[in-house]
Amino acid sequence: MLRAARLVRVTGQVQGVGFRPFVHRLALRHQLGGWVRNTSGDVQIEVEGDEVEVERFLAELVAEAPPLARIEEVVVSAHEPGGTASFAILASLTEIDRRQAPPPDTAICPACLAELTDPANRRFRYPFITCTDCGPRYTVIRAMPYDRERTSMAVFEQCPACLAEYHTPGDRRHHSESNSCPRCGPRLWFANDAGATTDGDLIGRAAALVEGGGILALKGLGGFQLAVDATSDDAVRRLRHRKRRDAKPLAVMVPDLAAAATIADLSAAELALLTSAERPIVLAALRPGAPLSCEVAPGLRQVGVMLPTTPLHHLLLTALGRPAVMTSGNATEEPIAIRNREAIERLGTIADGFLLHDREVLARYDDSVVRVVDQRPVVIRRARGYAPAPLDLPVASPVPLVAVGPHLKNTFTLVSGRRAFVSQHIGDLENLETLEHFRATLADYQRLFSLEPGAVAHDLHPEYLSTRAALDMGLPAVAVQHHHAHVAAVLAEHGRSDPVIGVAYDGTGYGADGLTWGAELLRADLISYQRLGHFRYVPLPGGDRAARAPWRVALGYATLLGFDNAWPWAYQDVAPAELALARQQVRQGLNSPRASSMGRLFDAAAAILGVRSVSSFEGQAAMELESLAGRRPASEIICPIVESTDGWVIDPVPLLATLAWQRERGVDPADSAADFHASIAWNTEQLVRRAVDAIGLRTVALGGGSFQNARLLGSLRSRLEAAGLEVLTPRRLGPADGAISYGQAAVAAARLATG
Ligand code: ZN
Ligand code: ZN
Ligand code: FE
Repeated sequence: MLRAARLVRVTGQVQGVGFRPFVHRLALRHQLGGWVRNTSGDVQIEVEGDEVEVERFLAELVAEAPPLARIEEVVVSAHEPGGTASFAILASLTEIDRRQAPPPDTAICPACLAELTDPANRRFRYPFITCTDCGPRYTVIRAMPYDRERTSMAVFEQCPACLAEYHTPGDRRHHSESNSCPRCGPRLWFANDAGATTDGDLIGRAAALVEGGGILALKGLGGFQLAVDATSDDAVRRLRHRKRRDAKPLAVMVPDLAAAATIADLSAAELALLTSAERPIVLAALRPGAPLSCEVAPGLRQVGVMLPTTPLHHLLLTALGRPAVMTSGNATEEPIAIRNREAIERLGTIADGFLLHDREVLARYDDSVVRVVDQRPVVIRRARGYAPAPLDLPVASPVPLVAVGPHLKNTFTLVSGRRAFVSQHIGDLENLETLEHFRATLADYQRLFSLEPGAVAHDLHPEYLSTRAALDMGLPAVAVQHHHAHVAAVLAEHGRSDPVIGVAYDGTGYGADGLTWGAELLRADLISYQRLGHFRYVPLPGGDRAARAPWRVALGYATLLGFDNAWPWAYQDVAPAELALARQQVRQGLNSPRASSMGRLFDAAAAILGVRSVSSFEGQAAMELESLAGRRPASEIICPIVESTDGWVIDPVPLLATLAWQRERGVDPADSAADFHASIAWNTEQLVRRAVDAIGLRTVALGGGSFQNARLLGSLRSRLEAAGLEVLTPRRLGPADGAISYGQAAVAAARLATG
């Protein structure tokens, strides 16, 4: 028998996922001596024993790794056997200048759920039940390596029964750092105007509050959530009123899959997402006759559905026995509340009761949102469960880097070499609270990853708060155009750095010519881009106000048509004086900046079809048009393309005029909405074909928030693929502005690397 010894270093998502206990079991199985320990940057293992068994151990280390582990690299080196026969889990080692992403939070696992509902179990109905396979991670971690002493569980000392589990090899809770029980763990309490209590059936009281139409604030994983009865018009209306949230769709949590099926028509891919450990909100087709208030997603045929994430959610939803609206605990446009006192202060005017506990939430996390397009998941909002799992960059950055992201739907990205840590969704950097959240989270990330940036990437827009924050850092700065960043993000996510044809369709971004861009055809690689074409500029009377006023965009297009009193029905909800002022502005060119924007084009179509002339949030009209179009068959309306000094300009005015004509003839607006989608896809294909002929590239990258529209994304992709082109689409970061910071990082890294 030949003895062998190996030192093994494993990198990836290997802490907080039950990896050390797994290694321990595996070593015992193969009768190996040695040790395993967490370090700041990896998991290190030393094994020795029979050479054949050592080889088997190494193979199974990868093949049988725990479900939540994601192994990126295993480095093995041989050394002289020292005669160790026993195997131990050693204390963790903190190393300077080494880093890894903390593990994301994970939904309660089936084994813990079974214990939660077992009256004989000592954790029966215990709201903080976890094991090595599930529970809070990122939102309770102060620093890596992952050990209880560096989490917000540190203040809860394990009782003898819990400690015994913790120290027993083979136990489900062997080295479970979040381990606790009703004797030793966090406490739940219920509070309302009458005071606070820890006694009695707290879950029952919270459920009764919701059943009675009240608004409950409960402490979730990444901060507070607000819950109301999703079947009650009154309750949902009250929530909207108090939260100052007019029409934006709300997500619904249901007790289980059977309940989910009564609300939404779910495909296999959607079911898989719903039940995944990340537990995102899944946007799915609303089932006709679903037991839901029409106030949940007004005017839309999609609904955001999610299953319970935490044991507390399970207990509450089971007690409730009906769907609950579950939304972030904040007033609209503010960051989510995470501390008990903060919640009571900020949510006191919204909530009628609070379900609180004393485990601290260390990081603010909204729920993630995902939808399925052509069987594939497309991330709409990347937060809890997904961030900050790192992505790679095709070109390593020679210096540590921070990319501050865009103005709206902000995320930021920290880069070390090839690794890009993209933050969770931060929000719109339009108020001090959100800017403070941005600063605090960035500081947390720098500490957590022990990373001191040597350069900063930012948007071209000189006035964005993110740009100013970037320039205040006093570091070498790289400015990246918004739509170049969209295309670069898609390229980088696919590991590509070669030039492609980029189609970037979104609301708005600051163009290199100082005008507003948003419907762009680019030739781009990671380093640079060239604008090949764009949709025709339209004047937007009132400027930024046009984002919530489809009628203003319609008016802008009407002036391009030559008579600004065309399409009178597009201004149906507009006060005459306001309309007259806007007409005057656009005629005289006052406060009417010119924009090329796919988002605004959707708005104009919605106004012209009489679907909506005023929006309560940006993108509302486009969501409604998509819902309206459904899967109806459609025919394409041709838009002329002319050559100009800044490339091909495609003119959507004939398309809009045709929609108006259809409306006058009494065509069903749903059919017109379908024609509009088909026309955008068809005309985009023509634009791309010109680019293919002109520059010879055969790969197309699609990016920008307009591609959150499943019909547009699906039909354009299949058209381009049918034309024999390779199509790259956003996956892990989604098409919208949440990907911008990663795109900025990819461009900055590539530019810095080439000097
Ligand atoms: Zn578990
Ligand atoms: Zn205990
Ligand atoms: Fe964008």
